[in-house]
Amino acid sequence: MIRISDKSLCCGCTACATVCPAQCIVLRRDREGFDYPVANPDLCINCGKCEKVCPMQQLSKPSETTAVYAVRAEAHLGESSSGGVFPVIAGKMIEEGGVVFGAVLEPDKRVAHYEASTMEELQKMRGSKYAQSDLYSTFEDIAYYLKSGQKVLFSGTPCQVAGLLNSLGGPQENLLTVDFACHGVPSPGLWEKYVKALEASKGSQLKEVKFRDKSEGWRHYCFRYDDVSVPYVDDPFMALFVQDMSIRPSCYSCRFRAEGSGSDLRLADLWSVSKAAPEFDDDKGVTAVFVNTEKGAAALEVLKKTALVKQIDENMAKEDNGGFAAVIAVPEKREEFFKGVHSTKDLIAYMSTYVVRRPMHIRMYRSVRKRLSQIKRRIVK
Ligand SMILES: Cc1cc2nc3c(=O)[nH]c(=O)nc-3n(C[C@H](O)[C@H](O)[C@H](O)COP(=O)(O)OP(=O)(O)OC[C@H]3O[C@@H](n4cnc5c(N)ncnc54)[C@H](O)[C@@H]3O)c2cc1C
Repeated sequence: MIRISDKSLCCGCTACATVCPAQCIVLRRDREGFDYPVANPDLCINCGKCEKVCPMQQLSKPSETTAVYAVRAEAHLGESSSGGVFPVIAGKMIEEGGVVFGAVLEPDKRVAHYEASTMEELQKMRGSKYAQSDLYSTFEDIAYYLKSGQKVLFSGTPCQVAGLLNSLGGPQENLLTVDFACHGVPSPGLWEKYVKALEASKGSQLKEVKFRDKSEGWRHYCFRYDDVSVPYVDDPFMALFVQDMSIRPSCYSCRFRAEGSGSDLRLADLWSVSKAAPEFDDDKGVTAVFVNTEKGAAALEVLKKTALVKQIDENMAKEDNGGFAAVIAVPEKREEFFKGVHSTKDLIAYMSTYVVRRPMHIRMYRSVRKRLSQIKRRIVK
């Protein structure tokens, strides 16, 4: 029976709950706002299946990357977070009659996985949402589609892909898996409280949220809600995310980040683009695509037909990217921060007090670089 005594050993992927024949495992939210499996001992039949599929306990083989590419799909640069690779691959899956599972923002701005079988449904999946997504019954639904012979694309965090593959008993012929470099997932409970706090300050419900608005550039992206847009470093939710304060305990030493998850493809922001593929660099976004399997290589051929593609060096593609780090240090004040979230009357002000302001010279350097890249983009236009 699954028992989580050390929270850093559960990534919340739902594989255990999916395979439980007694259906005795539910996910419950903890004080930090993350979901963990809880088994009902009265219903548990001690079959041990939950432990066998847990990707944190049953270590899979590391991914073997065969090639890495810089990719830029012009049509999706506006809505996607990097170079718009995901929508091209997902669009092809839908054209072929398959189903795509990816993360969307629900009407109340909670982050959750949904399925898409039309191009219209796919649009909402574009772009990063910075909170751990609720998978609901995604793994069960995927198993059902695969059994009925349908093609499926699953896109999610590395730990979600590892959990899905374990729950299915390994890679499946009709399943394409895409994950991304992921430096961690912020607490969904904190995100939901933050949405409520923003709504209270505005006096109305949020209509639209974009975690990575590129109108000021890809590198210096903004967090936007309705008509308010602020540089991500100036928004407390985003700042605490990039400072690793609000991510899940299992993210600090995530093995899927450094070793891979078994996914066919891994996507990442190509932050080293000015060295790796300077001809693609106009600050609108470029994705680094890591090809790990033959299925992944076939998907790359699809990309070559509609996007700019250039093979690049793997180590260079990982430069300046925390999404490949083996270990991330736990901030000293993390525990104190989460404790205070429940008692504060002004969440936005409270969160701001934990944001570490960068030293003046770094802020000035950033602002000069931002100005220069804006000028460069105008010249390119
Ligand atoms: C929590 C998080 C952390 C990330 N950390 C890094 C990082 O450290 N380094 C890096 O290079 N890239 C990171 N990324 C990924 C990166 O921002 C881009 O999403 C990726 O490069 C693909 O971009 P794209 O333009 O090709 O497609 P996009 O259209 O941006 O792709 C979006 C895809 O991401 C999926 N997705 C979005 N939000 C979530 C979520 N919360 N949970 C699961 N799936 C989601 C969508 O379903 C969709 O398939 C992170 C993304 C997330 C969500």
